[in-house]
Amino acid sequence: MQIFTTTQDLRDFIDQFKSQNPTKTIGLVPTMGALHKGHLSLIEASLVTCDCSIVSIFVNPTQFGENEDFNQYPRKKEADLHICSKAGVNVVFMPEIAQMYPLDSALQTTFNAPKAMSNVLEGKTRPGHFDGVLQVVLKLFNLVRPNKAFFGQKDAQQLLIIQKMVQDLFLPLEIVPCPIVRDKEGLALSSRNAYLSADGIKQALKISASLNAITKAIMRGVKESQQLKEVALEVLEGLEIEYLVIVNHSLQNIEQIHKNSTLILIVARVEGVRLLDNLWF
Ligand code: AMP
Repeated sequence: MQIFTTTQDLRDFIDQFKSQNPTKTIGLVPTMGALHKGHLSLIEASLVTCDCSIVSIFVNPTQFGENEDFNQYPRKKEADLHICSKAGVNVVFMPEIAQMYPLDSALQTTFNAPKAMSNVLEGKTRPGHFDGVLQVVLKLFNLVRPNKAFFGQKDAQQLLIIQKMVQDLFLPLEIVPCPIVRDKEGLALSSRNAYLSADGIKQALKISASLNAITKAIMRGVKESQQLKEVALEVLEGLEIEYLVIVNHSLQNIEQIHKNSTLILIVARVEGVRLLDNLWF
């Protein structure tokens, strides 16, 4: 496994790989590190479908708000490298901030996410978050020029906004959505779960349980969003819910669910930790 910390070394590798292997494919898995089985599922999806798999590990400052956990965000370089090497990753790219934002000491973004999709839900409480996400993802796409890039359905809004950017800008790659990986009790894996106590984890399990309750209600034939929300709220009782919405893939609220185009999104706080979960119907 090769490890690059500079954009120049990464570019040189990509140039050489593409000229020596013109028909081979490159897969990119962008992450912020503190890798867990959720990330690993993206890495495995890349390894089985691409000839060369590149994992980026970069805690991107432009997607964090001023009062968010940029400094506290878990950083586990050695463990991450071990996971990547054991999985069979070809390249890890782990740059310092100055490599990714060399000209931009103020860390301003030059690229904005479409407002209708980025000012709602996550974007409402985290203004500028998706501008930062798109800025770094587009930088990574331009550096790596992958055939495929792998993103988790866990960050549903992020995935939809990235898919829209790729469509709108005719970017020549395929975005591969990967299903949410959960622990054996159902909690969606997240690097931020590390902040939770044992009791917090118990509370957090209500989130996936509420989505299971919605699934069962859908299977009973319930279609009305309001009714489905009531089913979930009963299970979520006692949790600080930031939002519970039923939307289409443009993130607009819908009255009734429709197969293949409905997303049910929950964000709740447990012990001060924001936890995201969702169901793609
Ligand atoms: P992050 O390091 O949190 O930026 O996540 C990197 C990628 O891993 C994103 O595409 C996430 O959606 C994805 N991811 C994180 N947690 C999970 C999970 N539990 N299941 C599937 N994908 C995940």
